Amino acid sequence: MEYLNGTGAPHALQHCRRCGVDVQPGRGDGYLVRIQALADPAPPLFTPQDLAHDFRQEIVRLVEALQGLSPQEALEQVYCQRVFWLCGRCYRMWIEDPVGAGGVGPPGER
Ligand SMILES: [Zn+2]
Repeated sequence: MEYLNGTGAPHALQHCRRCGVDVQPGRGDGYLVRIQALADPAPPLFTPQDLAHDFRQEIVRLVEALQGLSPQEALEQVYCQRVFWLCGRCYRMWIEDPVGAGGVGPPGER
């Protein structure tokens, strides 16, 4: 099928990540979902016990822990992004329960 989008170039056909159905960008029948996960970005909180640690030993421990990771694995421990298409049907199901299994919700909303 030929589509006219003003540029003459068709948008690449996408597929729903959940059900695999074709999603044609520009036809309004899908959603581009972007999820970004950041490791706790708040400034760290320290207790007096934390400050009593031997920092040299702590740095050695951290370096050893990172040695088994690839650069990509190390990056994904602090930042991860996922981008995918969902068809309209799958989007409506997903957005109602994006964390899965109903989630537990914040205290007071259970
Ligand atoms: Zn779908």
